[in-house]
Amino acid sequence: MLHCPFCHGWEVRDQRIAIIANDERAVHQAMLFRQLSDQITVFLNETFEPADDHMKQLAALNATIVKPRIKRLVVERTQVQAVETGDGRVFDVDAVVVAPHFNARTELYEALGGTEEVVLFGKQIPTDARGMTKVPGVWAAGNANQPMTMVSAAAAAGVGVGTAVHGDLLVADLNQGLA
Ligand SMILES: Cc1cc2nc3c(=O)[nH]c(=O)nc-3n(C[C@H](O)[C@H](O)[C@H](O)COP(=O)(O)OP(=O)(O)OC[C@H]3O[C@@H](n4cnc5c(N)ncnc54)[C@H](O)[C@@H]3O)c2cc1C
Repeated sequence: MLHCPFCHGWEVRDQRIAIIANDERAVHQAMLFRQLSDQITVFLNETFEPADDHMKQLAALNATIVKPRIKRLVVERTQVQAVETGDGRVFDVDAVVVAPHFNARTELYEALGGTEEVVLFGKQIPTDARGMTKVPGVWAAGNANQPMTMVSAAAAAGVGVGTAVHGDLLVADLNQGLA
């Protein structure tokens, strides 16, 4: 069960990939995974009806579209084998892709008076480019303010925010000294 072509795509290149839809983000996933395989099937699973533009895009990708609701995934040990739909059809697949919502843990930020921000792919703590939030003295980095960010970018953001926090504190100290 995959969600990210950059994290796990190479391992499923040229395989039969099933995109299980929650909503129109399935079209985005189909575009991404189509770069890795020409055997893409989008299971709409009765979750949404693609707009005409989306239907044209899926057709241009040569993606197969399956409309009925999914009954179950056929799994052997840890390996998915097939998708079975409610109308009794069984589609052999090698991998399954979903488009999850990446919801940052914003409770602490909200307890400090902040407000979460809802974006297409989930929710996050809104910050400026340096990681500073609207709550004085509160900063966020990594998946907290960018839920789509990956390991190396999250770590780099942590370094950047660390230096920004340091700068903020030293200016506060300096101002106290000047006063
Ligand atoms: C299934 C999956 C596969 C992935 N595969 C890859 C991959 O192959 N390559 C890649 O680069 N990226 C991958 N990622 C993305 C990667 O995991 C993240 O980009 C990265 O972990 C973000 O680091 P972070 O430190 O910002 O957040 P996290 O790693 O989520 O760390 C945040 C930590 O804070 C803790 N926490 C939250 N709230 C509180 C609180 N109130 N009090 C105390 N602790 C708290 C959490 O429990 C967690 O341990 C994957 C993500 C997922 C979900």
